[in-house]
Amino acid sequence: MSEREYCPICKKEHEVVYLTNVRGAIYKCSNGKHYGISETVLYADNDVEKERRLNVIYNFIERKPFCVKGAYNHYWVFYYDENVMSQVDEEYVNVFPLMQDYPKDVAVRMDRILLNLADDHPMLSETFTQPSYERNFRRLYCESKDIPAEIINIFTMLSDMGYIKAIVPVMSFDDEGAGYGITAKGWERIAQLRQTNEEVDQGFIAMSFAQETNNIKDCFMKAISDAGYKPMNINAKEHNNYIMPEIFYEIKRSKFVVADATFPNCGAYYEAGYALALGKEVIFCCEEKTFNDPDKKPHFDVVQKSMIIWKDEADLITRLKNRITATVNQ
Ligand SMILES: [Zn+2]
Repeated sequence: MSEREYCPICKKEHEVVYLTNVRGAIYKCSNGKHYGISETVLYADNDVEKERRLNVIYNFIERKPFCVKGAYNHYWVFYYDENVMSQVDEEYVNVFPLMQDYPKDVAVRMDRILLNLADDHPMLSETFTQPSYERNFRRLYCESKDIPAEIINIFTMLSDMGYIKAIVPVMSFDDEGAGYGITAKGWERIAQLRQTNEEVDQGFIAMSFAQETNNIKDCFMKAISDAGYKPMNINAKEHNNYIMPEIFYEIKRSKFVVADATFPNCGAYYEAGYALALGKEVIFCCEEKTFNDPDKKPHFDVVQKSMIIWKDEADLITRLKNRITATVNQ
């Protein structure tokens, strides 16, 4: 069923298509992009939180416009659930884990905006005008009720920081006003930021760090090394906080995540969910004995992923190594 309705993403009225299996709709915005949004995303505690979730969705779609599955013409459907951390699959995206990486801090936000401007205008010959209420304001993570004022402040701040400057055109054929360009200092900052965000040849290990998991950890490390990657294993002692910036940083830098489901662990499921939301390959492994035990069988959402069910350590190492080689892009 298709109708015209107010769109939370672009804040205009246009065509929406209601979803059939969840409460929500696919919003077909005038920028040509489609946003599948469940009502759970819009039920935020306050307007700022809601706008932040929509910013996350908008920027996700800029990076990855389409999903693998074809149920809704390859449109992603976003939902929000704090209790189902690992449930991000080839078609549905839980916004909750993505929010952990939200640029709430102004300095971080300016960096993120600068990277977005560089991605959108990569050519040195390009100038750009300020986004507006009509266009692309979510690339600036606008979240207030007064978006035009927010945009002006952001551009002033980026200019003050020396990252962009207004370029007066010799001749202007449109009425959009003066263009901006990224400065030499801006490009230096971008290079620096891209380097820190760059993926390295690393596989992140997500698992419980209890004593009894040591053998499995060793197998994971061996399989990852044998496949030509560096295993990244963050020590249990650092797992003292629910949200750990270092863990997010390392997962973001990793090409893939190997997660253990033999010894159920919230942290590991959470890390796997975060990696999936970032579009990383996540490989779950579970010992056959545990997998077949109805009392210990891993969490339902996880079972659906194509899991490696292993018999013994040699079997785990070989199959994990083969899976990494087959599924992780070099
Ligand atoms: Zn729209």
